[in-house]
Formats: sequence, C-alpha cells, structure tokens
Amino acid sequence: MATEKKYEIDRFATPAGEIAITFLGHGSLLFDFQGMAIYVDPFSRVANYASLPKADLIFLTHEHQDHLDLVALAPIQTRNTTLVLTSACARQLGTGLVMQNGDERDVRGIHVWAVAAYNRVHHRDNGQPFHPKGVGNGYILVFGDRRIYVAGDTEDIPEMKGLGKIDIAFLPMNLPYTMTPEMVVEAAKMIRPAVLYPYHYGQTDPARLVELLKSEPGIEVRIRNLS
Ligand code: ZN
Ligand code: ZN
Repeated sequence: MATEKKYEIDRFATPAGEIAITFLGHGSLLFDFQGMAIYVDPFSRVANYASLPKADLIFLTHEHQDHLDLVALAPIQTRNTTLVLTSACARQLGTGLVMQNGDERDVRGIHVWAVAAYNRVHHRDNGQPFHPKGVGNGYILVFGDRRIYVAGDTEDIPEMKGLGKIDIAFLPMNLPYTMTPEMVVEAAKMIRPAVLYPYHYGQTDPARLVELLKSEPGIEVRIRNLS
C-alpha cells in the first residue's frame, strides 16, 4: 500500500467557522472553509492530487508551469469547480473566471480581491522581469472576518501598502524569481500581517527571515514545509 504524504495543517477560528490551511508545498495551498476545498496553484511535484479532495474553487496566480499545472488540475477539477485565474492562464486553459489586478468580486461566497504581483528588481538575462507588472495576480481571500493574502510571485511592491488589514500573509522567497529575505522584511513592514508564512521559498533559508523579523512587533513568522 502506498504511503500517503502527511501535510501540516494550521487552523484559525472565524465567526463564520474554522479555516484549515493545508501546506501542500512550494506555492501550493489548500484552504478548507465551510465544507469547501479551495486550492491555490496546485502543483503535481508536491502532492498527489488524486488523493486530495475535489476542488470547489481553484485560484491560479500566473501561468508559470509550477503554478499552472494541468497534471495537478486534472484530478481535482470537476464540473462544479470554479476556476479563478489571470488572462494568460485563461488563454492556455480556454476557461475560467478572469480577474485582473484590482478586481474584486464574490466567488462561491468568498470575497476575493485580485492584487498586483510583479518584479521591480529581479529580471531575466534579456532584461525582462521574471514577472512583468499586470500579468500575475496575488489574491486576498476573505474567510469570515479573516483576510488572507496569498501574494503569488512578486517582490516588495508599493501596492502592498494599500491592502488593508491582513491577518495572514503568504510571501514568496524563492530566488532569483521573487524576494530575498530582506525584501520580504520590507514587504512585511508594508503589509503588517499578524501571521506571516514565507512560502514558495525554494533554496532560501526561512530561518534567515525569522532572524530579520525577530524584533519586529506584531508579526508572527511561521515556518511550514513550503519549499
Ligand atoms: Zn512565476
Ligand atoms: Zn513561482
């Protein structure tokens, strides 16, 4: 019998019921709220999606292969799944509910705000940013009274100052594509999340972020297995 991988789960109370967050790995998360399975960026390298619940909702932050992965999508997507994605993702999949940076809407009872996600510093050899402005999304998802920010592939961008109250933030730290720990510190100071999960951190040591933020009040850094 195959051994199923065990994932870490954190739970948060809200007036509308508990939110359980399963840390699947890399940029991939599973939220369980009001009986719905809500995925962000399912990625087949980190999980066997055939053994996970069917998706009620799936959010795709951008079209890179570790975020838009057909192998991961196939076993969880059903005719009842709502797929929220970017224009570039919709062009590849030929379906889905497109949200642009700045769009807000209610999806399956969850309030969703799509926000900017881009590089202002790190770029490819040809000078193009790994993530050009306007292409990818971060998402703020409101579960009860908890506002959860999943940043997507981004750096510390000025738009982070305008996100409002954030209870839980997922900020990426894989290099060279996203943020150094120092950039995550700058992002955290703009966002001021009560709980900060570095995610999609690749080879970057998350202990470095804990060290840099240890004297910053009001931000609890939680390390989970999200390389
Ligand atoms: Zn990317
Ligand atoms: Zn990525």
